[in-house]
Amino acid sequence: MHLEVDRAGAAPSPPRRSGRGRRRVVAALTAPLVIGLPLLVASPALGGAAAPAEVRPTVETDPVRHSGDAADDPAVWVNRRDRAASAVIGTDKKGGLAVYDLAGDQLQYLPVGKVNNVDVRSDLDRETSFQLGGRAVSLVTAGNRSSNSIGVYVIDPQTRHLRDVAARVLRTGISVYGSCLYRSPRTGTFFAFVNSKRGEVEQWELFERGSGEVDARKVRSFDVGTQTEGCVADDDLGHLYIAEESRGIWKYGAEPTDGTARALVAATSPTGPLRKDVEGLTLAYEADGTGYLIASSQGDSSYAVFRREGRNAFVKSFRVVRGAGVDSTRDTDGIDVTTEDLGPAFPRGVFVAQDGRNDGGRNQNFKLVPYEDVLSD
Ligand code: CA
Ligand code: CA
Ligand code: CA
Ligand code: CA
Repeated sequence: MHLEVDRAGAAPSPPRRSGRGRRRVVAALTAPLVIGLPLLVASPALGGAAAPAEVRPTVETDPVRHSGDAADDPAVWVNRRDRAASAVIGTDKKGGLAVYDLAGDQLQYLPVGKVNNVDVRSDLDRETSFQLGGRAVSLVTAGNRSSNSIGVYVIDPQTRHLRDVAARVLRTGISVYGSCLYRSPRTGTFFAFVNSKRGEVEQWELFERGSGEVDARKVRSFDVGTQTEGCVADDDLGHLYIAEESRGIWKYGAEPTDGTARALVAATSPTGPLRKDVEGLTLAYEADGTGYLIASSQGDSSYAVFRREGRNAFVKSFRVVRGAGVDSTRDTDGIDVTTEDLGPAFPRGVFVAQDGRNDGGRNQNFKLVPYEDVLSD
């Protein structure tokens, strides 16, 4: 794949505006409020200057088991047998993994240690699913800080419980912080990426050992610079996006042979749309390689949306505000999104965000927003 070599020195640049664009901005600001506001919200040319859109959660999960800053990262598992019986897996970074149904009720808690980030590849298509014990499975990985290892699980579609399938403790060479999954469109191989607070990244190939267990081998390592955590890989386009928390979002090649060439998708800026820290990253897959890259802009409790394709042009920002009986999100760490049909409650998919302050709740939790409310085009 082609990547520009390190645009690291580039200034944080909002989308270029023409003179015509500027006049339109002024016109919008001076026009009667009722006309001006929709213009401001709708115009992507305004970049970070536009007020974030507001969307409302319809569901929140049960709080995580531990108090304080404990919930971190969600992953949506899509149940191809019964879409409404899909699930959200969430990390409790002080103690384990939780599985919730789409009403937010906890189905399982697995006290496996300090798991920080979680990712999943659902068995939607037999051809492209991970094969284990001669059958297609839904694969889940979680970076475990207690053992600096990669936890590997499968989901039982009947019980929606996670089962540990790691052949051994898959110990990495770094002090694990963030993690994410990648399935190569070129080779069909699955990989886990892990990274550290020092900005180190390791890529591990996942493969079956014996019958029904997963082992891993390290195939690449590189340095991002400073503290990293959020990451997401594009299984069709072959990109790896990594959030360098104070700096911005980097785009690397996701193949083990892709080296260290990278491009800066967006830099953090005091005026947004990315306010440090950049935390969770996720990809919304739309048709024909299009869609969106969404980032948690933790510094202003918003989410920045970029195009998935091309040079990842900025699209808009949004916030998750209070909905019917569900509080807003703040200081979000991890996020996830799927555009798959999840039944009547989320027919076009769901966006899930960790909530750093769960008002009215004992501990932190995760909020669910219908995808069509987040991005409707
Ligand atoms: Ca936090
Ligand atoms: Ca972080
Ligand atoms: Ca985090
Ligand atoms: Ca909240």
